[in-house]
Order: sequence, then C-alpha cells, then structure tokens
Amino acid sequence: MNIYREITNFFNGIKTEKRIIGSSLQKRNLYAIKLGEGSPTGIAVYGIHGREWLTARLAKAHFRDGNKQGVVGSIWLVPLANPDGALLSQKGLTAAKGCPYFRYLSAYSNGELRLWKANARGVDLNVNFDAEWGTGKRNVRRRGAENYIGERPFSEPESLALKRFTEEISPDYTVSFHTKGEEIYWHFGQGALQSARDYRIGQALSMATGYPLRLARGSVGGYKDWCISTLKIPSYTVEVGSDAFTHPLRGAAFWNINQHCGGALVALSAAVQNEKDDKRRKIYASGDCSGETWLEAGGSAHRGGDCLRG
Ligand SMILES: [Zn+2]
Repeated sequence: MNIYREITNFFNGIKTEKRIIGSSLQKRNLYAIKLGEGSPTGIAVYGIHGREWLTARLAKAHFRDGNKQGVVGSIWLVPLANPDGALLSQKGLTAAKGCPYFRYLSAYSNGELRLWKANARGVDLNVNFDAEWGTGKRNVRRRGAENYIGERPFSEPESLALKRFTEEISPDYTVSFHTKGEEIYWHFGQGALQSARDYRIGQALSMATGYPLRLARGSVGGYKDWCISTLKIPSYTVEVGSDAFTHPLRGAAFWNINQHCGGALVALSAAVQNEKDDKRRKIYASGDCSGETWLEAGGSAHRGGDCLRG
C-alpha cells in the first residue's frame, strides 16, 4: 500500500480529535491528529522530506504507544507533511499523473525519483521557512530533488499550511522526524537563556532515543529554525535510523527506528512539563514575575526584575 493511502486509512480510523490542515500541490490532504489532552502542547512533524516517508509509520507508532503510555499534555501529530514527495519517492512518476510539473519530473534524472526530497514542484520544504531563508551553504535556486529554497519563504502550500497550523496551535515545543544519522539538532542561534532551556529539554530527548545532540552545520530555513527564531520555543530535528541504512529507508529499518524513538514523545513532553514546573517554582521564589511566560524566556534564575528576559 502506498504511504499516503496508509496514512489516510490511519487518519480515517481515528476517533479522537483530528484535522485536515491543508492540502499539497497535488491536492492530497495534510493531516493532523491530536494525542493526549491539555498543556503543555506540542507539534510533531513527520515526512516533510519525500524519501523520508518511513517516518510516517513512526507517527502511527507514536500515536498508538502515546495513547497507552500517556504523553504529558497534548501533541498534534502531522504524520505526512509532504505526501506528494513521499509518493514520488515511493512510486515514481505514476504518483505525478495530472501534476502540472509532470514533464519536469519526467525529465529529471529520467524519472528516477527514489531519492526525491522536495515537493511536487521541486521545492525542498525544509528550507522554505522564514528563518535566514536562502542563506544556507547548501541552498540552491533551481528546482530539484533537494535544497531548492522556493521563490520566497512559505511559497509552497505544504510549508504554508504547517506555518498557519503552528501559529494557530501556538505550541510550547515542536519536534520533526527525518532520516537518517541518529542525531538531534536543537540549535538555531537562540540567546543564552533560551539556549540553556532548549539544551536541557534536548538532553531528555537524547537520553530517551540514545541519539546525541548536535549543532546543525550551516542549515537554515527549516521548520525547527523558524520555531526557534520566530516562536522562541524549543524545537528539535531528530534524524532517525542508522547510517548503515541507505535512502530511502524501507520497512526493514523500522524496527531499529522504533527501538530508539518509540518513547521520544513521552520523554519530550515530560521534559517540557518539568522545565515549566521548575520555572514556575523559581518565579514563585523570586516573587515579582507576574507577567512571565514560557515563550519569553528560558527557565533560568530571576534577574533584577526583568523577568528572565536575557
Ligand atoms: Zn529530512
């Protein structure tokens, strides 16, 4: 079964809160499914890169296991953020029937699209966000399988839908699952306090997955980068799956991925709650921080009446 059909069936079978948050260039649905209830609120994104479609199955596992083990608060899962790209990688040109870019896609590498990461018109969605857009070392200005930034930030229906949904939900944190390499990116030039907070929470995610925290190398314009720089919330990119696997990762790699990442959302949501509790204790202890919010600062000690705005 193709991954879009698989995720559509999964979505249709869910009885709890769910939404269609937009549609792709080829008019496939972009789904969101709510896990848990209340605060803190997170968003987890899967499959924003076409060839990394196996992560959509991690979304299913996270939903199933999260319901059993209980995430803290609630997390909206976006199980397949780039359905067109996923199907191009999985099914090749047959997935592009009726697409206005069919001829382009057909000419591209003679229709060999297994390694395709972009959407159906060759924009890499994870460099299309408004976060130092277009300044990355690997950014390119021509359509292709990867790294094309698009005509402007949020030029694509998929990235725009994710932006709007995120702004509407106003989450406390976000996490995105990619393949591969077994590491976690957590930084995007945030200031000292925000950075300390995000590192602490990231350590819990690192412990849960067994993947180390890493600094991204010259990567900009991603969903995580936008969440960190614009929304000022902790945001992580988790690269799942050993480098021993080759792209695109297939079913056989899933056992390995789930072994490491099955508990990621439970651990992450608990770490965010801990951080908020810890911060609240410090605010009470300091006495006069009535206007303090989670978004404004990062869980460090009270400083001189300025409520942690470091
Ligand atoms: Zn990726």
